[in-house]
Amino acid sequence: MYSTHRFFAAAVFLLAGCWGWGQSNSVSVELDTSAVPELNEWGLQAKALVEEWYPRIVNMIPTKGFEPPREIKITLRKSDQGIADTSGTHIRVSSGWIEKHPEDIGLVFHELVHVIQNYGPTRQGWLVEGIADYLRWAIYEGKPQSWFALPNRADGYRQGYQVTAGFLLWLECDLAPGIVNKLNTALRTKRYEESIFEAETGMDIAALWANYQKDRRGTSD
Ligand SMILES: [Zn+2]
Repeated sequence: MYSTHRFFAAAVFLLAGCWGWGQSNSVSVELDTSAVPELNEWGLQAKALVEEWYPRIVNMIPTKGFEPPREIKITLRKSDQGIADTSGTHIRVSSGWIEKHPEDIGLVFHELVHVIQNYGPTRQGWLVEGIADYLRWAIYEGKPQSWFALPNRADGYRQGYQVTAGFLLWLECDLAPGIVNKLNTALRTKRYEESIFEAETGMDIAALWANYQKDRRGTSD
């Protein structure tokens, strides 16, 4: 019964998924727009984005044995201050920002990455934000390398957000495919060290950043 056996094995593999047995990558999302009911439509878009992308982000940055949080709360708060923040599994977005930039639904993607990163306290805030913006701008928004800001500073990679994201995209492209998830797993397991960059590429991070700048500016020496 070879074919039956093979079918059974395939079914077990599908059920098992990558790391867990019989678990789906589903998420439950609670949406609270009670403070700004006029923005409920935007809130529903945010909820739909989380439901669509949660299972994909989980699989983009997997770590063996790691179970991401499966219950997420989104609150639209009435405020003219700030844009959005995430604490634990709670994403909060300010109404003032949504009113001025209703097209900026991708900010929810960035905050969703933070929920799934689940790193806890870390001193590597630049990298936490760099990974979230790499997944948002390079993967979700599909921006090309040339779109990413490039400051003329020796330690510019520590700027975080879109700057670090562009650096990560450059590393993924050629020198170190897969490095984003290696850094992600190191942050999750409290094993991050700057030497990971050298271990993956043969160059320390300062040399990598200098090469990235030369490459982007089209100069070499
Ligand atoms: Zn962030």
